Amino acid sequence: MAKTAIVTGGSRGIGAAIVKSLAADGFDVAIIYQGSVDRANALADEVAATGVKAKAYQCDVSSLKAVEEMMAAVIADFGSIDALVNNAGKTKDGLIMRMSEEDFDTIINTNLKGTFNCVKAVTPIMMKARKGTIVNISSVVGITGNAGQANYAASKAGILGLTKSAAKELASRGITVNAIAPGYVRTDMTEVLSDKVKEAILGQIPLKRCAEPEEIANVVSFLCSEKASYITGQTLSVDGGMFM
Ligand code: NAP
Repeated sequence: MAKTAIVTGGSRGIGAAIVKSLAADGFDVAIIYQGSVDRANALADEVAATGVKAKAYQCDVSSLKAVEEMMAAVIADFGSIDALVNNAGKTKDGLIMRMSEEDFDTIINTNLKGTFNCVKAVTPIMMKARKGTIVNISSVVGITGNAGQANYAASKAGILGLTKSAAKELASRGITVNAIAPGYVRTDMTEVLSDKVKEAILGQIPLKRCAEPEEIANVVSFLCSEKASYITGQTLSVDGGMFM
């Protein structure tokens, strides 16, 4: 039987690489996006041409109601949800002194609450099936903190606590929950950084380069495979050695 994966933030960057990697593994894929309708539909067409089923769904993950409606639509279209990858995320950087309440709330609501919403909505489906895999995309700065990213680092640290709590709650039902903490990855999110900031980050990476999105997607594929069946509650750093 075909397995189905949901990838949030699947329209671009790391999420798009995850969609392609899971499709190559044989998963049917539901691609969740917020605004990039053309990119999400083009990606769905691209992976569907490889022989799996793929469909794009608009959903703001910060709304539980929207997430529940999206999950119901995925179940109606695909029949099951075997893997959930919580990858949707955004940044709104600034020093704490100048950070607005709105910028703090937006990042927490998208990155942390969005992950909670998706885990909450998929839990009854996976518990009923007595199997499933959840992978949450955190960040190296959720482990180390970063000046100018209090909102983002807090959201990504929160994801690690959420991951371990969900892993403990769901293990007895055969559901694994893990996190990946990427370092510096070449996507739209990092493209906006100044050359000076990029150079400073590169100086902190023992492998002396940023990651390609595929290098994060490879680890998602592993965690969603049978080869990772005895791993739960863990954070895998995929950061070129930034944190060790
Ligand atoms: P990106 O290129 O900016 O793409 C972000 C994705 O998230 C897009 O698909 C976007 O959808 C989606 N998204 C944003 N807000 C959403 C919302 N409220 N509801 C649904 N979807 C939403 O980012 P990326 O660099 O690939 O990052 C992907 C994940 O990896 C994020 O969680 C990020 O924090 C994490 N990460 C990235 C890096 C890095 O260096 N790039 C490092 C560590 C961790 P639309 O296209 O529709 O806007």
